[in-house]
Amino acid sequence: MKKRIAILGSTGSIGLNTLNVFDEHPEELTLVAFAGGSNIELLEQQISKYKPELVSVADEVKGRELKKKISGQTEILFGQDSAIKMISNMDVHLVVSAISGSAGLRPTYEAVRHGIPVALANKETLVCAGSLLIEEAKKNNIKILPIDSEHSAIFQCLQGHAREDLRRIILTASGGPFQNFSKEEMSHVTSSQALAHPNWSMGRKITIDSASLMNKGLEVIEAKWLFNLEPDEITVVIHPQSIIHSMVEYRDGSVIAQMGIPNMRVPISYAIFYPKHLVNSMPRLSLTEIKTLSFYEPDMDKFQCLGLAFDVIREGGKAPVVLNGANEVAVSYFLKDAISFMSIPDIIKETLNCLTQGPLNSIEEVVETNLWAMKTADNIINKYFMK
Ligand code: NAD
Ligand code: MG
Repeated sequence: MKKRIAILGSTGSIGLNTLNVFDEHPEELTLVAFAGGSNIELLEQQISKYKPELVSVADEVKGRELKKKISGQTEILFGQDSAIKMISNMDVHLVVSAISGSAGLRPTYEAVRHGIPVALANKETLVCAGSLLIEEAKKNNIKILPIDSEHSAIFQCLQGHAREDLRRIILTASGGPFQNFSKEEMSHVTSSQALAHPNWSMGRKITIDSASLMNKGLEVIEAKWLFNLEPDEITVVIHPQSIIHSMVEYRDGSVIAQMGIPNMRVPISYAIFYPKHLVNSMPRLSLTEIKTLSFYEPDMDKFQCLGLAFDVIREGGKAPVVLNGANEVAVSYFLKDAISFMSIPDIIKETLNCLTQGPLNSIEEVVETNLWAMKTADNIINKYFMK
């Protein structure tokens, strides 16, 4: 029987890689539903090629426009909540969650609430609503399978081992384009410099997060929830070649690493077809060609976003949501070159300083806290940080 899947964020970098995985294994999968933000030209092409049953478009005006153009079997939903509506109206075995940023939160949570297993790329969902999501997945007895390459690596390194033997996980980070820049040089970088990632081709927001190491910070929080870890069981190591995708150390000192060329199609395919590793047409890893793998400690003074992520895990409550929301707004300003790169962690700290702490008992409270964080960060930026 073919596995029926939905892709949230089908027009993005992960979405397109997921469609590449489908193109190599059309006999294994049926594409049932796509959700996109506003790129209706690409959605139109995807509808004519893949003929999904349902498509949702977050931008209402663009969604209406697309609906007028589509005459076949595909039903078009539109508006801010259309991805959520789509989830309640579809019958699938797996949802690929690849919307970028906090916009992915509600649709991903909704999939888990409906008892649909999730292949998760949207790490922001776990950062904001980790405990609620994991609890709901347990209640519904469904899996959340990681797509993020580091977490896919950890997931693979845990197979066949006893959980109580784990001592720590070691997340690798490429270090991004500014590893060898001084703090002074980093304060003058532009968004186009930050968008030139050395090893991975990704969406704009995650590429900026990779340059600031906030991406690694978000991944530390993501790992905490996926693998039920304490912060001192998570180490980050800079590994510029991005060949070892992450490692697990066991209590006897044995360290298991997962390696491969840096290409997201591998972890996407593993999450979709778990526990199978299906064949693909990608180049193979050749260690004799690469010759050297290097590792060093992250510079926590230059890359303060990473330290902030560890701080908010320890603080708990609403702090991770605020870190994520403030970062998202700061990144959107930096992408317009309206603020300096080095002000990103300062904006997050200032926003966290305004927080009145409290527990998060429902997804509505998470969404409300996220909106508060985004609005507060926006005010702080306009008051103190505009260039
Ligand atoms: P992207 O910007 O390339 O794509 C984002 C997708 O989300 C697009 O299809 C866009 O239309 C859609 N979208 C945006 N807002 C939406 C909304 N309100 N409703 C519905 N759809 C909306 O981003 P990406 O690089 O593919 O990253 C997606 C997620 O995967 C992020 O959370 C990122 O951290 C994570 N991730 C990406 C990579 C990678 O290699 N790109 C690796 C690991 C994790
Ligand atoms: Mg990653």
